[in-house]
Amino acid sequence: MPLTPEEPIAPVGETVPAPRGEPDPRQLERRLEELTRELEIKDRLLTGNLLQMERVAGKLRQILASMSSAVLMVELDGYLSEANPRARMLLNIEGELPILASAVLPEPLQNILDEVVGEGRHVSLDELLLEGRHGVQTLRVDCRLVRDDMGNPIGVLQILDDQTHLIHMERRLEQSRTLAALGEMAASVAHELRNPLGGIGGFAALLKDLLEPESDPHRYTLRIIDGVEGLNKVATNLLTYTRPVEPRLQVLDLRQLLREVLSFIQIEVEQARLPLELEIDLGLTELPVRMDPELMRQSFLNLFKNAVQAFEGGPGRLGCRVHQTRAPGGAARIAVEVWDTGPGIPENLHEKLYNPFFTTRAKGTGLGLAIVRKNVELHGGVISLRSKPGQGACFTVQLPLALEL
Ligand code: ADP
Repeated sequence: MPLTPEEPIAPVGETVPAPRGEPDPRQLERRLEELTRELEIKDRLLTGNLLQMERVAGKLRQILASMSSAVLMVELDGYLSEANPRARMLLNIEGELPILASAVLPEPLQNILDEVVGEGRHVSLDELLLEGRHGVQTLRVDCRLVRDDMGNPIGVLQILDDQTHLIHMERRLEQSRTLAALGEMAASVAHELRNPLGGIGGFAALLKDLLEPESDPHRYTLRIIDGVEGLNKVATNLLTYTRPVEPRLQVLDLRQLLREVLSFIQIEVEQARLPLELEIDLGLTELPVRMDPELMRQSFLNLFKNAVQAFEGGPGRLGCRVHQTRAPGGAARIAVEVWDTGPGIPENLHEKLYNPFFTTRAKGTGLGLAIVRKNVELHGGVISLRSKPGQGACFTVQLPLALEL
């Protein structure tokens, strides 16, 4: 730009004083340096704060990850922004967050969330039943609004605790207390019953031989013998169930034991001409298990007999499959599945089936599964059931694997 006559040209070595009212460039330079320094300090502070925040966030994430409770944070726009690993596992949540909460939360939890947002109140439930991946789960739920420093709501926090295991244990404890008392009484009644029953059965058998075959008195006597046999069975089962058992453990091949039980069942099915197909898959290797063979034989016989009886004479398939699995702690186990394509069992009965005297069969004693569970637990194992009405039943017995035969 050309110089104008008003602008004096400074001779070499002289400086032109700044025109009055205009900022001094040297002052400006100093100010600039000061500001740059201030900026650098603030920048360092900010970086420090950010690092600090990242550390705090990291710690929070670690705390959330190590919590046994499931923790979920849902923003007010309905998006799930946080779900710790326990929550992801419990509710089967996969993929990146945020995601629309209603797309991943089961309906009852979404309803609670809506209630908390809509009415601004805290909801706490001791037992919420949820259909999960592994059956019905019992959850304790705590759901509340989260507010900022000014008291404005910024989201909803949902904390879930899986109580399924605890509730099962409580029920089992209660059950075993009742059983202990009941057992004592039942054992003495059964014992008292067996002697007179033996007499009645014996005399009825003698009487039958004296009567003319096919006559009415002969038929009545047969009915008496039948009834006595039934009562004897109940008394024997009762004694088996209530008697304290000391298992005689030895390491044996469970595969061999299952083969024996299955061949017995096969003969029964064939003799009764039942239209049932047996599918057996016992794997290719031996299955060493520390067991009392008598108790195990009795247990698997009960399970297979139940499977046969489930068909009530109709056609179907039943089978046995074996595979290796691990206990929650990591110990190796053998899982034996006893399955059938029968009528299945409604979910609300699954726990009751193991109660002594629970039966839906006219000739049942209701002690079969109670004995199976007792035996399996005596061996450090567990029994579980997968079944729905119309879709057959599958009882799985898991037993600890022994090192070798
Ligand atoms: P019981 O056979 O004398 O009735 P259990 O304890 O063995 O006694 O069985 C209890 C009940 O469980 C049976 O009455 C039946 O209702 C049910 N159950 C057991 N196994 C099966 C099965 N495989 N399919 C359908 N229902 C079953």
